[in-house]
Amino acid sequence: MKENLKKYNISFVGLKEGIHGYSYKIGKEFFTNFINADSVFEDGNVDVELQLEKSSTMLVLMFSINGTLNVECDVCIDPLVLNISNEFRQICKFSDEAFIGSDDEVTAIPLSDYEINVSRFIYEFIHLCIPAKMTHEDGGCNDKVKDIVSQYLLTEKPELEPQSKESEDVDPRWATLKELKNKN
Ligand SMILES: [Zn+2]
Repeated sequence: MKENLKKYNISFVGLKEGIHGYSYKIGKEFFTNFINADSVFEDGNVDVELQLEKSSTMLVLMFSINGTLNVECDVCIDPLVLNISNEFRQICKFSDEAFIGSDDEVTAIPLSDYEINVSRFIYEFIHLCIPAKMTHEDGGCNDKVKDIVSQYLLTEKPELEPQSKESEDVDPRWATLKELKNKN
């Protein structure tokens, strides 16, 4: 466990049965723990309210997520501040058996565990808040870049996001585009 994720530990053993509340402010420091090749955001400002209900057999976690993420627009690749807001439920059953093939919503907590770290849930749920397409509102795009991008999209169907390490070589057309953006 990384040091700066320890504050997302909840020691549930000492908690009374019933509802408990937690608040987290999520920003760049948090996201740096999870960055990988597929990350579409590395910065943002997100409030997470967690309501934890403990019973003798399980924990029911309700995450309420509200805030903004700093992303790139899919159309013009200029910076875009994306508003996100959603709620997610996660059920953690006390059990030594994994719930294979069952709902993602249900996971197992080994009977010997006494605490749970909720940072992975928070990261995954923030990810689920992202729409399939992230763009500026009508007319808000950087037209100069947009024209070049749409030309590019017409010529072939590119993979916009590298799926593997092998595709790290930047397409020369994208390099030109980035240069052009930097000059602006
Ligand atoms: Zn745009």
